Amino acid sequence: MSMVHEFQLSGIAYPQDPAHMLDEICDHFVEHAEVLRNADHAVLKSPFGTASIRLQDERLLIDLDCPSEHSLQMVRTSIAEHLYYFAGETAFDIAWAQPVSAALLPNMHEVMVTAAEDVTPHMRRVKVSCVDVTPFIGGDMHVRVLVPPKGRQPVWPRYRTDGRIAWPDGEDELLVRAYTIRAVDVERRELWIDFFQHPMPNIKTPGADFARDCQPGDRLALLGPGSGGLPVSSRMLLVGDESALPAIARIVAEVAPGTDIEAIIEVEDSREEQPLPTEGTLKVRWLHRSRYPLGANGMLADQAKAAIVASGPDTFVWVACEKEDARSVRSFLKERKHDRKSMYVAWYWEKEMGHFRKG
Ligand SMILES: Cc1cc2nc3c(=O)[nH]c(=O)nc-3n(C[C@H](O)[C@H](O)[C@H](O)COP(=O)(O)OP(=O)(O)OC[C@H]3O[C@@H](n4cnc5c(N)ncnc54)[C@H](O)[C@@H]3O)c2cc1C
Repeated sequence: MSMVHEFQLSGIAYPQDPAHMLDEICDHFVEHAEVLRNADHAVLKSPFGTASIRLQDERLLIDLDCPSEHSLQMVRTSIAEHLYYFAGETAFDIAWAQPVSAALLPNMHEVMVTAAEDVTPHMRRVKVSCVDVTPFIGGDMHVRVLVPPKGRQPVWPRYRTDGRIAWPDGEDELLVRAYTIRAVDVERRELWIDFFQHPMPNIKTPGADFARDCQPGDRLALLGPGSGGLPVSSRMLLVGDESALPAIARIVAEVAPGTDIEAIIEVEDSREEQPLPTEGTLKVRWLHRSRYPLGANGMLADQAKAAIVASGPDTFVWVACEKEDARSVRSFLKERKHDRKSMYVAWYWEKEMGHFRKG
């Protein structure tokens, strides 16, 4: 029997091709939620709540059922953002049974830079003070970092009536990038975020540059935490590049004593290696990109696949890296029918066009 929560909301979506949209919803959310599909009815279940989406009379009837008001707003926004995204340029509308007020987002935290320091030559740590760090303890690790334009009073996002987020634009446009909370300092009420410095000739890297240039007192906001919790398993394989190193470091720092962990981490060279304190048993292999043959591709993915073959089926496989590598490992795990509940595979950046606003 499924649990019914107190916080519920109904909506109706009007896509041009509802059947196709229902397919897209199922294909996409399988990465983020348990998806149960039965002909014209899909149910998406996640820790934030349940979304039932039914195709009827050329419309999608949506029913959300969540454990709190906060999670209800998050699920509503996620559904609205995704459905508009799937609709692309085609006509689309969505209406909710209760009006959406233009409030600030409940999971947005205004924070202030207290310090910034280099951890290694290319990893810059920014520490921010946060009035309430409790939402960041355990659970989900990721946030969207919102940086206002320099010298301007920040204008923060609010809800639109359709449930999507209205982002400030023009002179108030925010820089939005996905990052990981590397550590939570409960006593000092501080959060640490490690920004990989990946300077590229003739290409702007605003996220990395923010970390390089920020000063104590600078204001920013964090949206989250969300997507991608600390894995729980007695045996883990962790694979990633510099963008995932903060997450890997946090996972190993917070595992239960005795957890058996193998980590494969790709960095430029030995100067980018970091100590990874843990109460688990950690075997870490650093791959140095500087030693790869010229034009080498997919080295991290190849090492990950070999380690997956060598590890048992009960191993939790956690992978985050560049898009191509992540996709290749995901397909490999799928072919091997690795239990979906025992894996997390995400791309954290993309060659050429790198940033991630939605998600
Ligand atoms: C859930 C999640 C968590 C993340 N956590 C972290 C984190 O804790 N620390 C961290 O450093 N990154 C993290 N990332 C990755 C980070 O969001 C991207 O690297 C982002 O693109 C950086 O923004 P930017 O403005 O510096 O560069 P962008 O404007 O996005 O891209 C500019 C150029 O840089 C290239 N580029 C982007 N990222 C990289 C990279 N990592 N290596 C080499 N080239 C790159 C792009 O291909 C593009 O050509 C995370 C991503 C996700 C999705």
